[in-house]
Amino acid sequence: MPYSVSPIGFLRSCFKEKFAIPRQPQLAPAARGVLELVAPFDQGEALDGLEQVSHVWLLFLFHQTLVAKPRLKVRPPRLGGNKSLGVFATRATHRPNGIGQSVVKLDKIEAGRLWLSGIDLLDGTPVLDIKPYVPYADCVATAHNHIAASAPALIAVDWLDTALLQARAQGLRLQEPLIELIEQCLAQDPRPAYQLPQPERRYGTRLWDVEVRWHYPEPSRICVLEVLLA
Ligand code: SAM
Repeated sequence: MPYSVSPIGFLRSCFKEKFAIPRQPQLAPAARGVLELVAPFDQGEALDGLEQVSHVWLLFLFHQTLVAKPRLKVRPPRLGGNKSLGVFATRATHRPNGIGQSVVKLDKIEAGRLWLSGIDLLDGTPVLDIKPYVPYADCVATAHNHIAASAPALIAVDWLDTALLQARAQGLRLQEPLIELIEQCLAQDPRPAYQLPQPERRYGTRLWDVEVRWHYPEPSRICVLEVLLA
């Protein structure tokens, strides 16, 4: 008999498209979202005690990249997209069963709702389970990973004066740390590693309900050009 799983909730996230989402959680602390639980988990009882916990594991479905035929080897963007590795050696989104996992900060709890930050999940992501982070068991002081040894190097993010004013105004309207969110996400350098950015090429993504546009005046420097209501 096949196993089946069903979501316990769906995430309302600042990230409306995949481009420029950090590759792991915690890299953009200003990335926030609300996990809205579905019945019967929206009653409040299911969250009893969770207020004693600072971080939670989310197990979720990579719902935008589900594939019928799983790949055995993948090309992680972090390695420039030109080196392939066994799928189980990576955190690639294309994987058997399409299951992702992220440790995120738990900021606030209400019956049926969790306010989260440091997320790396797309808007609408179906969440399969929530588990409390257990520091003594989940943090392995002696662990190593020679494929992803440290967080990606950050690049500089500058602003056109007009873009900074736009971001400030939109952040106030949204009541969200929008300038920090843009800087934290763009500093990760979202473009594919194999693509040498030409200064005239424009890039963009949607955060909350605003469209952010930028370019690379130099390969390792971003300049934010505009932040407008989408
Ligand atoms: N921390 C998780 C893990 O290790 O399982 C996710 C790592 S995966 C490399 C992170 C990327 O997944 C993000 O940059 C984003 O582009 C993508 N992503 C996030 N939510 C997604 C979703 N619901 N469907 C498809 N891709 C998603």
